[in-house]
Amino acid sequence: MRIDFPSTDEERRSDWKWQLQHRIKTKEELSAKLRLTEDEISSFENCSEFFEFSVTPYYLALADPNDPRCPIRLQIVPRGEELIRNPLERQDPLAEETFMPVKGVTHRYPDRAIWYLSHVCAVYCRFCTRKRKVSKSFHTPGKEEWEQALEYFKTHSEIREVILSGGDPLNLSNEKLDYLLGELKSIPHINQVRIHSRYPVTLPMRIDSELCAIFKKHYPLYLVTHFNHAKEITPLVREKTAQLALEGGVTILNQGVLLKGINDSAETLTELFYGLTAIGIKPYYLHQCDEVWGSTGFRVEIEKGAEIMKKIRGRISGLSVPLYVVDLTGGGGKVPLPGDYLVEKKERSYVFRNYRDDLYEIGY
Ligand code: SF4
Repeated sequence: MRIDFPSTDEERRSDWKWQLQHRIKTKEELSAKLRLTEDEISSFENCSEFFEFSVTPYYLALADPNDPRCPIRLQIVPRGEELIRNPLERQDPLAEETFMPVKGVTHRYPDRAIWYLSHVCAVYCRFCTRKRKVSKSFHTPGKEEWEQALEYFKTHSEIREVILSGGDPLNLSNEKLDYLLGELKSIPHINQVRIHSRYPVTLPMRIDSELCAIFKKHYPLYLVTHFNHAKEITPLVREKTAQLALEGGVTILNQGVLLKGINDSAETLTELFYGLTAIGIKPYYLHQCDEVWGSTGFRVEIEKGAEIMKKIRGRISGLSVPLYVVDLTGGGGKVPLPGDYLVEKKERSYVFRNYRDDLYEIGY
């Protein structure tokens, strides 16, 4: 069933600033759109005290108002499971604040740095790794910190890639993005610039001709977005991602998160991966959900994730299959999670098990 926003005309709804200004933020506004369960009602205040609730009218309209198991709804509506305090979960599971040489920059891997440009998002995902600071605008770096960060990038020639992240960096104005991209592109040792944004999913109207002209000016750019379910691939998403690629010249990739009850089956992920490839987005990573506090209810066992990916690999084109990875808690970095393909090493051969569970022996 579709949720209607009857008092707004199409033109205003297609304006990204209107969408941001009219985000649904309170339990009262939300319960006017969705039939909330008792758990959703009773958890709302307690959960949003730790991590703000916010959703664009566009994204909320994708949710089923009557089904609490709807994959869109499960990503955005607070539930009691968020209040479970698992001792292994952390405020900053990837130790991003530990490896922070200047405010707003994480430099953890030798050749790349993450730059947090905005702590605002159109939609707050309940499993967000950065809920410690996302939605809290006082953490957002200002102009002075930008200059410090740019100076750091200029004086560290080992940095070959800068990842613009947040929150959502597309929350910045076009003028600011143009300035920052221009500065980064003028640093000789920066080989590539990547943008991490969920706006193609939660606020696709952000992509317009003006933004695409800026991206084209700073070609090449890589944009990594974050689709978790095929329900998120709407006709507007199809139109806007085509515009981003064709007008903006941007290479688009996806890193999703494996989420319990949302996409933890081979069928659901196959539909997502095929759906993304069909609109020109390469599935890049499927992440094991990070051990951020309040994420227990979202996490799938690694064995199950590996089993799902094993079923998918071999059945669908390798072009559509992302790498399943875990980003190690404590700042250890990403490690791939392949299935148990290698069964045995013999004196002159290896034995492998394929996606159909058949055994094959190859020599070396
Ligand atoms: S869009 Fe990304 S940064 Fe923003 S709340 Fe969702 S997961 Fe966190």
